[in-house]
Amino acid sequence: MNYILDYELINDKLQNLKNLKKNKSVKTRFGYEIPYYIYGSGSKHIVFVGGTHGSEIISVDFVLNLMDEISNKKNIFKDFDSSDYTFHFIPVHNPEGFIVSTSAIRTKISRDMPLSECEKICKEYYLKYKIDDINVNNDKNDRSLKEHQKMFKNATYECIPDIHPKLKDSIKNIFSNDKLPPGSMICYRANGIGIELNRNTIFNHGLEDIKNKREVYATNRYNNILNTIPGPIGIPCNNIDNFEYEIENIFLYKLLDNLDKENKLSCCFLFHGTGGEIYYKPIMTLDKKEYKKKLKENYKIAKIYQKYTDYKFMDNKDKIFESFDGFLRTAFKKTLLIELSKMGGNPIGPYGDIKNNYIPTISNNLIAIRNILDKKTII
Ligand SMILES: [Zn+2]
Repeated sequence: MNYILDYELINDKLQNLKNLKKNKSVKTRFGYEIPYYIYGSGSKHIVFVGGTHGSEIISVDFVLNLMDEISNKKNIFKDFDSSDYTFHFIPVHNPEGFIVSTSAIRTKISRDMPLSECEKICKEYYLKYKIDDINVNNDKNDRSLKEHQKMFKNATYECIPDIHPKLKDSIKNIFSNDKLPPGSMICYRANGIGIELNRNTIFNHGLEDIKNKREVYATNRYNNILNTIPGPIGIPCNNIDNFEYEIENIFLYKLLDNLDKENKLSCCFLFHGTGGEIYYKPIMTLDKKEYKKKLKENYKIAKIYQKYTDYKFMDNKDKIFESFDGFLRTAFKKTLLIELSKMGGNPIGPYGDIKNNYIPTISNNLIAIRNILDKKTII
């Protein structure tokens, strides 16, 4: 079997993780519960989040692996003493986006497709995605259909299984806008109504673009997809005159805030799909002293993370909360964003080289987490 997940598969996997406690959570707009599981009862609370962007399936995959290894004391966590910790796992922060993107994948990769055949398709996608980036670099205004989109041109709303009627209807409605290129459902980041959770902050510049009726395209290989209409790349909020945070973000914020208020929050890791990068800096809106303190604490964790993954430090210099993760990194201590796979091409590019990319991505990140958890003085 191949490693590509879908919504049913992750639910099966979650049910099989018997040592974890399923915790109270919320339901998304179309009725999908955000899976939230707890392991342990120690005083230091650590939060792990995957799947904020629908298409970043490797982040879901990784958090599921982490849940399995920690709760079943497997491999690198074999002799791990977890008694100091309570772990909070949110493997799929954006279930709607995950269902959309993985339904698109299933038009080409079935559950039972042999690993080698699947790997070939993923590699082909990775290479096309790369060519698309090169082409855009040569001509930023080339809005023609991208090679990676051509590969998934048959992935329309119709590939979403009928067991998701409301979500399917919403996606049908979104893609009835002929400004969205065919095949772009494959990289669906947003939630079920086309809102991008990481852009869902009141300071995101997209709000101004929409208010001023500007048509703005996304960057790189997505430069034929507007980010000012609901769609795969997604808009910052639903009602431009009355900004609201999405239920997925409110849920995560409340969880972190409650832990923080009770002085229990030790650390939070937000996992994304591709890049091999570590975002550890808070936004510089804090007072200087507080900023430096946070920066120093985060740097210590980031440094260990880098040692085991060889990921790049990202030098974000935002002065406002353009992104929701930037807001979280600033509001809460020791909150880091990790971009997992060095091989690009969400959703399936990371699976294009199992031996040299997929396996080391999963295992190196598990090792990094284990080593950070062992350094109890910094966390
Ligand atoms: Zn992401």
